[in-house]
Amino acid sequence: MTLICVPVFVNSQTDWRQQIDAAQKAGADLVELRADTATTDEALAALAHGPLKKLVTLRSTDEGGKDSRSDAARAALLTAALERGAALIDIEFAAYQRSPELRALAAKAGDRTVLSYHNFAHLPADLPARIDAMLAVPNAVVKIAYMPANLRETLRGFEFNARIRANGRASIVLAMGEHGVISRLLAAYAGQYLTFATTPASGPSAPGQPSVDDLLRTYRFRQQQPNATLFGVIGHPIGHSLSPHLHNAAFAAVGFAGIYVPLLIAPDYDSFANTVDDLRTHLRIRGLSITIPHKENAIRYAREHGFTIDPLSQHIGVVNTFDFNQAPPLALNTDYAGSLDALVSAWHGQRESLAGKRVAVLGAGGAARAIVAGLAHYGATVVIYNRTLARAEELAAEFNNKTGKVVAAPWANLCKSCCEAYINCTPLGMYPNIDTCPIAESDISFSPETVVFDTVYNPLHTKLLKLAQTQNARIVTGSEMFIRQAAIQFKHFTGHDAPMDVFRHVMSKKLG
Ligand code: NAP
Repeated sequence: MTLICVPVFVNSQTDWRQQIDAAQKAGADLVELRADTATTDEALAALAHGPLKKLVTLRSTDEGGKDSRSDAARAALLTAALERGAALIDIEFAAYQRSPELRALAAKAGDRTVLSYHNFAHLPADLPARIDAMLAVPNAVVKIAYMPANLRETLRGFEFNARIRANGRASIVLAMGEHGVISRLLAAYAGQYLTFATTPASGPSAPGQPSVDDLLRTYRFRQQQPNATLFGVIGHPIGHSLSPHLHNAAFAAVGFAGIYVPLLIAPDYDSFANTVDDLRTHLRIRGLSITIPHKENAIRYAREHGFTIDPLSQHIGVVNTFDFNQAPPLALNTDYAGSLDALVSAWHGQRESLAGKRVAVLGAGGAARAIVAGLAHYGATVVIYNRTLARAEELAAEFNNKTGKVVAAPWANLCKSCCEAYINCTPLGMYPNIDTCPIAESDISFSPETVVFDTVYNPLHTKLLKLAQTQNARIVTGSEMFIRQAAIQFKHFTGHDAPMDVFRHVMSKKLG
């Protein structure tokens, strides 16, 4: 079992007792006592505090810490810690090489030694050779921490981890920072000895550390299996994506052994293509969600790699899903399907019931494009209102008379509109600009049959939806669109119907 270890800085300025207690309460297995600036008495008192096992670390200034003791003084404190019951002691490999005292201590501590190497600047070219040199030290757990420049360098860490484990040794391989997050989230999947995580009381000791709560609840760390199938969402930025919360909660609900992680990839096509190639080579990736700014990169990749592309997605020109369960893999756009499903739910109908309906689409950007394509495909009559009329005209011309009729109209004409549904595809109303609204109250009156659909999902109830509610119109939230597009992905990824109640619960918990 991969352990969860919470770093706690021990010195006279920190409330280390409370932090050790908080780690235990959060469900951690181990505490790392960072005693860089602690006195011997403080370090030994912290070692004796509470039932959790302890890893004692004196991180030198050379490797990102604050310990300025001599090697001999460090060896003396670590020896005392070992004798007083420390489960593990950290000895830096560089110090091990130069210090006879630390070499003797490592020999005595055996597999209670964590032999460590840190590089906060980059992934050094000689890391494989360094790992081999570290493996020559008998029995010690081998710990490597480096700063990757991108996700591809993080994926190298899975190779390093395998190399250490192939030698029969316990491994800790951490890629730090925003690009390295999956090295921590997938530590149990990779069979690492331990990974580091935070509690609200302790905060991170290195960039990119998740919380114990995230590991245990969102990423189901205790259930991670080495044969689990992996999924992820690619974007830039990606840290705030709700998709990992949705899909992991749904995996748990249906008993599916999958793990879904955020994947940060730089916006350019080469970064996208090379990283997706590496993900497919190095991890058991079975499906990917793709979000801003990569949806066009994704369809190009799908075309260049001979994927099957769903015909309407082909026409829309962007995809947001790769399904590697199929051979060849399938690329599709679940945004249009999710938005249509959300819309027709207000009429309790199927997508086919859109034929002949008059629908106003507000905006002519990426979201509007997918929705207009879907509406036109199912025979609706669409009026596109956009701030920049020319853009609306271009979009209308592209999809007009495919099945339904699509026309453009100036934004100012919105007040004269008499459609059966209004779909906001602009960011108006979105956090933090929650007081903005695409339609002024004085400009329009909705009937109780009118459907008002806001694709904005943060906040859940936008100003536009509140206005519609005061006029007793039917409303559809952006959250409903988001979960319905995720539900289509989930079905492709797992073969199971998505547990919509779980999705809705996660969204309302996250968005209040
Ligand atoms: P986009 O490509 O940048 O397009 C934005 C559109 O909004 C453009 O037509 C733009 O008009 C218009 N616009 C922007 N600011 C405006 C303003 N102040 N007044 C009037 N019109 C304005 O963005 P997108 O990717 O289509 O995303 C649009 C919204 O859709 C997002 O904010 C997001 O909330 C929502 N969305 C939701 C989901 C979901 O699952 N619920 C999924 C995707 C998107 P111009 O052409 O004149 O610039």
